[in-house]
Amino acid sequence: METFSKTLQHATDFQPVEGDLEGTCCMCGEHTTHGNKKKFGNNFTCADYISSGDVICPYCQHLVSNSNKYRRTMFLLTEDSFKPFKKKDIKEIIFNLPSDKDFYLYLTKTWQKLGYILMNHARNSAGTKDITCIVDYNIITFTLPDLQEKYELCKRLREYKISKEVLETASFEVHHYRRLNEAYGNIKTRQLINKVNSYKNNPVWDLAIYICD
Ligand SMILES: [Zn+2]
Repeated sequence: METFSKTLQHATDFQPVEGDLEGTCCMCGEHTTHGNKKKFGNNFTCADYISSGDVICPYCQHLVSNSNKYRRTMFLLTEDSFKPFKKKDIKEIIFNLPSDKDFYLYLTKTWQKLGYILMNHARNSAGTKDITCIVDYNIITFTLPDLQEKYELCKRLREYKISKEVLETASFEVHHYRRLNEAYGNIKTRQLINKVNSYKNNPVWDLAIYICD
């Protein structure tokens, strides 16, 4: 499978940005004789997020030069299509990922981080069960059945006007108990709440909450 920036080039046919430095690209790890100076935007401490390497290759340089375009959207990339999308489309995209093609998936909660520089950590081969995506600067791996189950639970609890914050922190209050109790009865309510408790700090649970309305 090709690196993220080369796959993007195939899909969108952008013009690579050629420099004259030889070295290893700090984003994709490829050797190049047309590298560019390793320089990112202001206020970005790249050391925490990028691999070793001394230049930026012509393909990855396109990303850095068009940073605003790539950090202000979510996207799904396959070898023949680059699909930017917004929050409202996330469920549709994530539950209908391509099964017969390699793909890269980028999600964001901030719409400003340079998370795209981590895309090479999130290559998905066609038909994989373990899906890896980047969410801002986080790498998250999940299976669809697991995400689906957590999403359904989240949706169910959201119907009882339980806030996303309560779901994330499992900080239920008396009035939440009461509302669920009326609908589900005591035993079922305890089960639901125990489940949410066990999902605390689980990145797939946090993702399920994020994609839920
Ligand atoms: Zn590169």
